[in-house]
Amino acid sequence: MISIENSLKQETIEKIKREGIPVIIFGAGIVGEALFHICCNVGIKVEGFCDNNINKTKSSMFNLEVIHTLHLKRKYKDAIFLISAADIIDVVDQLHVLGYSKWYAVNLLLKDFDVSQYPFSAPTGFVEFAVGTCLLCHDGYLNPDKLFLRSVDIIITERCSLKCKDCSNLMQYYQKPINCTYQELMQAIDGFCALIDEVNEFRVIGGEPFMNKEIHLIIKRLIDEPKVRKIVIYTNGTIVPKEVQIEYLKSSKVLIFITDYGVLSRKLNLLTQILQQNYISFYARKAQGWTDCAKIMRHDRNIEQQKKIFENCCAKNTFTLSKGKLYICPFSANADRLQAVPGFENDYIDLFQSPRGAMDIYEMKKKIRTFLLEKDFLETCDYCNGRSFYAPEITPAIQTENPLEYEQCYLNSR
Ligand code: SF4
Ligand code: SF4
Repeated sequence: MISIENSLKQETIEKIKREGIPVIIFGAGIVGEALFHICCNVGIKVEGFCDNNINKTKSSMFNLEVIHTLHLKRKYKDAIFLISAADIIDVVDQLHVLGYSKWYAVNLLLKDFDVSQYPFSAPTGFVEFAVGTCLLCHDGYLNPDKLFLRSVDIIITERCSLKCKDCSNLMQYYQKPINCTYQELMQAIDGFCALIDEVNEFRVIGGEPFMNKEIHLIIKRLIDEPKVRKIVIYTNGTIVPKEVQIEYLKSSKVLIFITDYGVLSRKLNLLTQILQQNYISFYARKAQGWTDCAKIMRHDRNIEQQKKIFENCCAKNTFTLSKGKLYICPFSANADRLQAVPGFENDYIDLFQSPRGAMDIYEMKKKIRTFLLEKDFLETCDYCNGRSFYAPEITPAIQTENPLEYEQCYLNSR
C-alpha cells in the first residue's frame, strides 16, 4: 500500500519535472549533496547550486556551478529551488525579494533517505545529523502551530582555554570568567523544554564547555529530555574529557564538534583517539570563515541600517540560552552578560517572567515564535559589526594575552 507521504512525494517529483525550467539546489552544503543524490535517483535534472556564502561559490559541486545568490537573476530568469538550508524561512524571503516564486521545502524528498548508500564530503554521522536538522526545520515551517527549533546554544561557561581576540562569542572580554552553576543551567533547560515542542540540536557552548567540570550532568539532563534530538558539544581540541564525562558522551544523541585551531588545539590527536576508541561521534573541522564581528562598539545606525545589518547576519538564527533568557544570537547574549549594552528588554525573552499555567504556556509559545521568527533587528545590533555573508575573512584564533577592554559606560544606563 502506498502511504500518503509517498504519494505526495511522487506528486512533488512529477510536478518538478513537468515545470520544464532549471532546477537549482539552494544551499551548497551537506544537505545539498544529499538532495543531489536524491534528484539523480528520481530523474530530476539539477542545473546547479546556489549559496549565500561566497566561499562556497569558489568551487563546483558534482561538476556543477555554485552560483552566488546575488547573481542568480542574471543567469536564471525563472527557476525552481529545492531548499536544502535549514533556515528555510530566510531563504523563502530571499527568493521572494529576488522575484522567484517556485520553491520546495524538501522534507518529503529527504524522508527515509539512506545516507550510508552514498559518498559524502563529511562522515556519515554528521550527514545524518545535517539531514535530520533540515527535515525538522522544514516540518516546523510547514506546521506553524508547533514550536520546532533547529538549534539552541546553551552557554555553560564563560571560561575558555584559548583567548581568541576575535572570538565571536565575546569570551575575550570576560575579566573574571566563571562557570554557570548546575542549578542555573537545569532551571534554564527545564523552563525552555517546557515551552518548545522539539529542538533538533542543543548546542553546548562556552567558552570551552569542558572547562565546566559539571558538563556531564548537563549532558545527562539533555540525553534524558525527549524533546531534544541531538546534543552537539563545541570544543576547541585543548581538553580531553575525564572518564566520568566520557560515559555520557557515548550516547547516540551526542556529537562532538571539534574546531581544529592547528597547534593551538594541543590535545586534538589524543582527543580524537579517545573518542574513536569509545565509539563517540565527532566531527573535526579546521577553523574557517571568521570575520571581523567581535568588536563591541556603538555605531548610531538608523533603523533601516540596523535592519540591513540584521538581514545580512548569518548569526541571527543561533538562538542562545543564557541566565534563563532566550536570545537571538550569542553576541547579544554575551553583550548582555558582560553588561556592555544597556539592558535592552526587547532583545530577549525571559523564560521565567511570570507564573505559567496552561494558558500562559500557549501565550509564551506564541511570544517565543514571534520573537525568534519575526524580529527584524535587535537594538544590540547597533553595538555589533554584524556577521555578513559577504564580509571578508580574517585570520582565525589570533590569541590575546590579557582580556580585552570594552566600553563600560553603558553600565550607567542599566
Ligand atoms: S576557542 Fe577561541 S573562539 Fe572558541 S570560544 Fe574560546 S576564545 Fe572563543
Ligand atoms: S548583527 Fe545583530 S543578530 Fe547579528 S550577531 Fe550582531 S547582534 Fe546578533
